[in-house]
Amino acid sequence: MQTQRIRRLADAGRRAGMEALVLMPGANLHYLMGMTLHLSERLALAIISTAEDSVRVVLPQLEQPRAQQEYVGGMPVEWFPWSDEEGYRVALRRAASNLIGRTVGVEYTVMRVLELRALEEAAGIHSLDATDVLASLRMRKDADELALMREAARIVETGMRIAIESLRPGRTEREIATIWEEVMRDEGSSGPSFATIVASGPNSANPHHTTGDRRIEPGDLVILDGGATYRGYCSDITRTVAVGPISAEQRRIYEVVQAANQAGFAACRPGVSGAHIDRAARSVIEDAGYGRYFVHRTGHGLGMEIHEPPYITATAQQPLAAGTVFTVEPGVYIAGVGGVRIEDSVVLTEAGADSLTTVDRALRVLE
Ligand code: ZN
Ligand code: ZN
Repeated sequence: MQTQRIRRLADAGRRAGMEALVLMPGANLHYLMGMTLHLSERLALAIISTAEDSVRVVLPQLEQPRAQQEYVGGMPVEWFPWSDEEGYRVALRRAASNLIGRTVGVEYTVMRVLELRALEEAAGIHSLDATDVLASLRMRKDADELALMREAARIVETGMRIAIESLRPGRTEREIATIWEEVMRDEGSSGPSFATIVASGPNSANPHHTTGDRRIEPGDLVILDGGATYRGYCSDITRTVAVGPISAEQRRIYEVVQAANQAGFAACRPGVSGAHIDRAARSVIEDAGYGRYFVHRTGHGLGMEIHEPPYITATAQQPLAAGTVFTVEPGVYIAGVGGVRIEDSVVLTEAGADSLTTVDRALRVLE
């Protein structure tokens, strides 16, 4: 499968005018070759030719045994290890001997000045941004990937249900987040796919709250946003619960956000754009008079990374294909009242969309 992925990348790169691609440790390399090389101060990269089946890997000597063990796919790899004593320059120059003067695709948001300068010195490359080429490969998930994402979703939801049952006045945000994360670990997650968010009361009005030591109080809206990583794949879900008694306005914004989540989901089908889905969700909130309190995009793709293309924004015009996975997560945040976000992760299918996340969306008021 990975051999096919490398060939698809080579085809897409060639069409984009690239004679080779250079990939950094990270999700793309993991996706293409199964390797989980870590990004560190030591130079490591893979060179994939788009003209022939050729993969070269430059890496610290001490990383080679694990990388070799992890590498999957039939395509032969040439290894160029380097030691701390000799440094990376000689290994890189040998590995980059087929790049001299070439046009090379690199990951603009991942590659550092360290690697770019080293490649320019070793081979005088001309670099192009390969971000879109790589994103186009990873956006549509195959059946194996979807199975892993469903398991990641099952794990986060098992933890979320227990976290919600554990919510009560007097408990801190951090206690609830810890309970949630422990259940995810017990269920097989290698760790949260991002820092678990429990935002209570006034903190719920901040869409990027950092979970802290505030104690939950009666009258709070509590946003719970979490994800699990399972065998390299992420899940992502948000629910908002109320600790009674709550005000009429808190109830009202909950109902509006729930309707927006529903409208966004209903707009999902193959061939529509992110902008179409964003509009469907956002117009519900605007029509209710809360448009200026919905301060973020409607959603983001997810897979091996918690945020990856496609992005569900007002300007996203690209049609989305069946197999694409992304979130629908409208929210309203009002200082002095509180915030509500309801987020699901969905996969586009020929029939519309299928939600990987299923925890009940109806308003739950804990007494
Ligand atoms: Zn999200
Ligand atoms: Zn989330």
